[in-house]
Amino acid sequence: MALTEQRFSEAELDKINEILESGPTENILKWVDITFGNKAAQMSSFGLEDQVLFHIYWGVNSKARLMTLDTLRLPTETYSLFDQTKLRYGVDVEFFYPNMDTVAEMVKENGNNLFYKGRSNREFCCGVRKVEPLARALSGLGAWVTGLRRDQGMERGSINIVEWDEAHSNYKINPLAKWTFEQVQAFVRENEIPYNELHDNGYPSLGCAPCTRAIKPGEDIRAGRWWWEADPNAKECGIHTVAPLKS
Ligand code: SF4
Repeated sequence: MALTEQRFSEAELDKINEILESGPTENILKWVDITFGNKAAQMSSFGLEDQVLFHIYWGVNSKARLMTLDTLRLPTETYSLFDQTKLRYGVDVEFFYPNMDTVAEMVKENGNNLFYKGRSNREFCCGVRKVEPLARALSGLGAWVTGLRRDQGMERGSINIVEWDEAHSNYKINPLAKWTFEQVQAFVRENEIPYNELHDNGYPSLGCAPCTRAIKPGEDIRAGRWWWEADPNAKECGIHTVAPLKS
């Protein structure tokens, strides 16, 4: 069976999760590497969690694949971090860009900053700049690895380490599911991992420049994302919100 066709029964998946849940994060990435080989890749936003995750993944396999979505609206600091990460790990980052014809049409019809004009516009922009390129990036992969954590709340509170991703017909792996933000910060410090300097300026969660602001003391760590929207639960761009299904 080709690795991309690997599919587990519900019972197998439960057992896999039970075993991986009780072991170190490194074991999860070793299992990914053995099971999916180069048909697995980390999809990174280059946030703090993703930097921790890639450090561990690279330690397991120095040829681990690292992908990212360049929406063309990222902060300058994020572009600098791309270069720092390439230097540190010698990784050939796989960049995925929006379809430029679609972007041009969207901007012509709705303006460059359409996202400030209502949630549907924002979701349209995220669809063009993130969701479609993500689908392109993941096509052909048997598994994609993410830096999601359960205590980030909302739908992330119930993630499993290994989940069937119906939307992309592959497995979604969440090795940091049980990590806390404090653990992430400590790991970055202890291992001198390159990170986005905006994290030192009140940005715990990073995304596109026009859609992310620093948070105030006491605010939820994702409060700075799409801060102008009234619904406090509307803090996802669509790439992690398709309900996962077990096989
Ligand atoms: S975060 Fe903002 S700029 Fe980035 S894709 Fe979504 S709406 Fe567009």
